[in-house]
Amino acid sequence: MTKERAQATLQELRNLHCISMDSRVFSSGEFVYIPIVDDCAPRLEGYDLVEIKPRAGTKQYLPQAIRGSYDRIGDIAIIKLRNRERAIELGKSLLKSKSGVTAVWQDTGIQGEFRTRKLTWLAGEEKTVTIHTENQAKFILDVSKVYFSPRLATERMKVARTVQDGEQIIDMFAGIGPFAILIARDRKAEITCIDSNPDAIFYMKESMKLNKLKGKITPVLGQAESVIRDLPKADRIIMNLPHDSMKFLGHALRAIKDSGTVHLYSIGSPKSIEENMEILRDSGFTIIDKRIVHGYSPLESLVSISMRKTF
Ligand code: SAM
Repeated sequence: MTKERAQATLQELRNLHCISMDSRVFSSGEFVYIPIVDDCAPRLEGYDLVEIKPRAGTKQYLPQAIRGSYDRIGDIAIIKLRNRERAIELGKSLLKSKSGVTAVWQDTGIQGEFRTRKLTWLAGEEKTVTIHTENQAKFILDVSKVYFSPRLATERMKVARTVQDGEQIIDMFAGIGPFAILIARDRKAEITCIDSNPDAIFYMKESMKLNKLKGKITPVLGQAESVIRDLPKADRIIMNLPHDSMKFLGHALRAIKDSGTVHLYSIGSPKSIEENMEILRDSGFTIIDKRIVHGYSPLESLVSISMRKTF
């Protein structure tokens, strides 16, 4: 955008949590260039998005308009563009790009209790099962039958690094177990992984076989709110059901040890997240960290809240 618009645009993009920290804002001639985070690109319709090639030795400026439009899970690309023609065009270019993509699907939304993607085939093979590598761990999954988001890779690693040997952990909404597998790979912890989707439990068990684990994972098929009642109190609880985590707070409160840690994920506007944090403080938690994992919609973000039970 032009220099006159730069300050206002920077503020708008900051409010949307869309500015990437990987590269610097810079100006050239009469224009200012602002690096944006990948998953914001499809939402920034009124902005001019440009691809900027990196200079040798500099950090890479990525083709934002393209990269933010799809998720890569194993050798499957999942395109989030609503416009089918544009999605097919991107799909074909991904197949040609020699990046290892063999199948391309269009994602038209996450649905239901199991949070699965509604997928329409676009190009390449009509496969939905793949092996995905994240933080050097391997996961096998069917992208049409279970929830999995590669955008949480850094977040999962951050949580795993805070775990100590010997901890008892409950992952209430574990999916195929990416938090647990990372933790158990690096720590002698015991993790009970609950999920109500039988396919998630199946792929969790298969993924456990693909990794060398120091810790112990116990997959449990069922509703977290009832399974958790029969479990011993935990040192740490992970609650990754971002639209509904707050509804399960009471169950987590009863299952966490004094001074135990809870990692809760919530999607909302800055105002609603503040309100949730107030509820968490009133429930006896001290917030130890709050960070934005990624933008979700123009006004909402996925936020990670780590907190300790203090009374
Ligand atoms: N934590 C996982 C991850 O990082 O990939 C998956 C999180 S996904 C957003 C939420 C998961 O919770 C889904 O796999 C869904 O099947 C499961 N789920 C939804 N409601 C549940 C409930 N009441 N009890 C147990 N699992 C539930």
